[in-house]
Amino acid sequence: MNATATGGGVAEMLRGLVPFQHAAWAVIAGTDEFYAVTKYLHHLLHGQADPGRLDDPAPLATYRATLAPQTGWFARFLSPGDVVVLHDPQTLGLAPAVKATGARVVWHCHIGAEVAPERGPGAVWRAFDTELAAVDAVITTLPRYAPPHVRDRHTIEPAIDLTSPKNRDLTEERVADVLAGIGLTTGRPSAGVTVLQDEPLPRHARVVLQVSRWDPLKDMPGVVRAAAGLPDDVHLVLAGTDPTKIPDDPEGLAVFTEVRALVAALPDADRRRVHLVANAEPDPEQNALVVNALQRRADVVLQKSLQEGFGLTVVEAMVKGRAVVASNVGGLRLQITDGVNGLLVDPADLDGVRAALRRLLDDPALRRTLGERARAGVLERYTMARLAEDYLKVLR
Ligand code: UDP
Repeated sequence: MNATATGGGVAEMLRGLVPFQHAAWAVIAGTDEFYAVTKYLHHLLHGQADPGRLDDPAPLATYRATLAPQTGWFARFLSPGDVVVLHDPQTLGLAPAVKATGARVVWHCHIGAEVAPERGPGAVWRAFDTELAAVDAVITTLPRYAPPHVRDRHTIEPAIDLTSPKNRDLTEERVADVLAGIGLTTGRPSAGVTVLQDEPLPRHARVVLQVSRWDPLKDMPGVVRAAAGLPDDVHLVLAGTDPTKIPDDPEGLAVFTEVRALVAALPDADRRRVHLVANAEPDPEQNALVVNALQRRADVVLQKSLQEGFGLTVVEAMVKGRAVVASNVGGLRLQITDGVNGLLVDPADLDGVRAALRRLLDDPALRRTLGERARAGVLERYTMARLAEDYLKVLR
């Protein structure tokens, strides 16, 4: 069970994983107030919110009241001996009700950060004491993301589906067709995808790409700032799911608006080289194809997150043999060894980020070498088959 059927890494991963398991997938329903609370919990686990607000019982009352009426519905499908995997804080509140059916409860928390417990995670663990007591096992990407008092703790790295429309091979012609179809290279409006740009992306431009939700922690505004000052033929493409389409991401619109304002204020010559892609394509396959084509068109893929539980977009770029510049934080560090299969940067150091981008943009041989190693590493470590096997070990 998770919070959303599309948008974000968990939905992406479940889409690939469920066919590998004897499993069903259910999605909870929420309200704006509920998602405001879960976003706050998300920020707390990243040490980016005031833990004091949890002293007020109102947010958690809203959270529990939203989930409570949903427990009866899925309990009907469960029998003793079943295993229910609850993903992320949005669904953790269901743990006691699931446990009461006799099913085993696994909480897979995909987020986390290297922050002291008192900066946020500790408050979450205290507030969710009852729910965590009903959890039989917890899975995180890194050991230190786990709540300390759940005894059965596992770490599992995510995976991507190599055969999915997001990752399967595309010819250059197909990439060109998809990007023309959304208007990025033609300027023609398309139904599912909005591209905000002064002019279409030129054919021979070098492209730096960041794909992510418009979440403050992905630092899209910081990407615009870091890309200013790159050579004249380098274009920046920022692509993310249309911020109005992800229910559990209430801050997306504000970030998107901030990015638009930042881009509008750039000098003409810089603004011409920025392309904002808001992907509202309703067909998941088409949606994935757009991301696939963008990643393949990019010369360098950037992931300038301030915090990152894991960062599927980076694995997706790596499997396409792209050269990646990623922040030296959280799960991105698991995937990239600096100078071996990508470059790691301090996301707060804009000059450092720009220098890393320039280093790769100016050195096609280095891009190729890093990209080839990146692809080989992903094929070895991040496949769905491996993820399904890891799950079996926990579920057994
Ligand atoms: N994604 C997408 N369409 C978009 C932007 C992102 O399908 O317009 C996908 C992206 O390809 C990746 C997921 O959303 O599979 C994001 O996962 P990640 O782990 O990078 O970040 P999260 O959103 O889970 O924090």
